[in-house]
Amino acid sequence: MRLSRYYAPTLKEDPADAEVVSHKLMLRAGMIRKLTSGIYTFLPLGLRSLNKAARIVREEMDRAGALEILMPGVQPADLWQETGRWEFYGKELLRFKDRHDRDYCLGPTHEEVVTDLIRHEVRSYRQLPLNLYQIQSKFRDEIRPRFGLMRGREFLMKDAYSFDKDEEGSMVSYKGMYDAYCRIFERLGLRFRAVEADTGSIGGNYSHEFMVLADTGEDTVAACSACAYGANLEKAEAVAPAGTKPGNCPEFKRVPTPGKHTVEEVAEFLNVPVKKVVKTLLFVADGQPVAALVRGDRELNEVKLKNALKAQDVALASPEQVQAWTGAPVGFAGPVKLNIKTILADRELANDTDWVVGANAADEHLIHVDLDDDAFVTNYADLRSVTSGDPCPKCATGLSLTKGIEVGHVFKLGYKYSEAMKATFLDEQGKERIVYMGCYGIGVSRVVAACIEQNHDGNGIKFPPALAPYEAAVLCLDVKGEALAKAEEIYGWLGTQGVDALLDDRDERPGVKFKDVDLMGMPMQVVIGGKGLARGVIEVKDRRTGEKSELPVEGFEAAFTAWREQVLAGWNAR
Ligand code: ATP
Ligand code: MG
Repeated sequence: MRLSRYYAPTLKEDPADAEVVSHKLMLRAGMIRKLTSGIYTFLPLGLRSLNKAARIVREEMDRAGALEILMPGVQPADLWQETGRWEFYGKELLRFKDRHDRDYCLGPTHEEVVTDLIRHEVRSYRQLPLNLYQIQSKFRDEIRPRFGLMRGREFLMKDAYSFDKDEEGSMVSYKGMYDAYCRIFERLGLRFRAVEADTGSIGGNYSHEFMVLADTGEDTVAACSACAYGANLEKAEAVAPAGTKPGNCPEFKRVPTPGKHTVEEVAEFLNVPVKKVVKTLLFVADGQPVAALVRGDRELNEVKLKNALKAQDVALASPEQVQAWTGAPVGFAGPVKLNIKTILADRELANDTDWVVGANAADEHLIHVDLDDDAFVTNYADLRSVTSGDPCPKCATGLSLTKGIEVGHVFKLGYKYSEAMKATFLDEQGKERIVYMGCYGIGVSRVVAACIEQNHDGNGIKFPPALAPYEAAVLCLDVKGEALAKAEEIYGWLGTQGVDALLDDRDERPGVKFKDVDLMGMPMQVVIGGKGLARGVIEVKDRRTGEKSELPVEGFEAAFTAWREQVLAGWNAR
């Protein structure tokens, strides 16, 4: 492709509303343009990268035996009513009516549609296992669309669904997808880690997220440096400390703590360590009040709380609710004489005593509290988020926390959708059984952004060859001189070698060309100028390392082929 006839509107300055690097660089390199909040148009360069990502995903899904289909984006409400998700999905589901006043939504995911498909078609165990996938635009009305393609409202997803006779078969399907995902992210040239993820009501270790490691990630990953254990923060187990509770707690006592709302303020005022103050957080779980206790220096993890309660929905209580339930403003709740039926405590609180807690009265706390003697803890559970240095649940080495971008998710669904929608088959004995399902997503557009988060410098994008819009850029520095004929010749030759190339034949200053090509991030640059040609050389640059070399005009083809091998090997060796 020739840049003189191309549409890649590059920008010199960082766009004001772009916060993360990938968003800035994709706008600046002329890859995408925003239509409205969280909704983008892919321009030619952006679409090429997106298509390259989709192609690798498609090849590996096909290789794993999955079959590509294309389902509609518009979905009728009645399917979602069958599974109960019309009610539960919340505001991310964009709902609307047609001219006959029938309810529809824009597909944020396709479990209902695909289950509807197979319940009408699959009759016999002979038709199973089956794995159907599609690569399609999804719509989720995200509460905070941001970071460009990373959290869009409309985005491209690969979603696959497996159908098996039983759980055992489903494990094989799951493993097949897990392995395919590893191959996909390796081929895409991403540094990633597969981590255990929360399974909510399904339970077991049957959900993994594929995380691209980058500081701008919205997710936190706990990973062990010594063993293969890795989990996202919702899932990473905080190992309960060993030892038994000391038996030396004095009688509890009420003390004034005027105006001291936060744990830190209370600890300082009473001159005790923050970790001896218990945080009492109040929630509404499926309509019922619940109290959750964690040590003052810990963070409560809402997903863990939700799982411990086996609740559908958990939300922090409002200040009005706190006042009504405890008789005190926020900051003074505590578990002693608290009129709430369910009081969960983090299991770290089980084997220590002599705590400071809120007194359920304004400006007062209780000291010397023993949770078992003085309060009614319903249950001790793993409620807190792990922190850096916490022991690994597998091997006890210290965990470290890193930021990650979730690019893929594999999940065992079990009977959740097939049972609700009556997707059954007849087994070998002619007995009717429910289909066992799994689902597997990859955020294809997010992958492109995540790749840029990992591969860039101050001048622009450094695309790995697998995702680069073009593998090479041929820069003609002097389009009016003899350099153009040579550039055309090399550009044509690259095409015959299967190297997709972009020819910069614009009548622009060399400085502009160098800047633009660095910004766009093509891994290989071939620079053809009159001066070099006069000396019998052509300059090439490896965008990843910045290293420049001079290749002879005589014998350029062999020299370039060898140099290209080196550049590709450099990417593979990272
Ligand atoms: P997140 O926690 O980031 O919202 P999710 O758990 O909702 O993701 P899934 O429902 O598992 O995501 O969707 C499959 C994949 O689709 C994710 O792994 C992610 O790569 C991608 N994805 C999800 N939401 C978005 C979005 N708003 N913009 C871009 N990609 C997304
Ligand atoms: Mg989401």
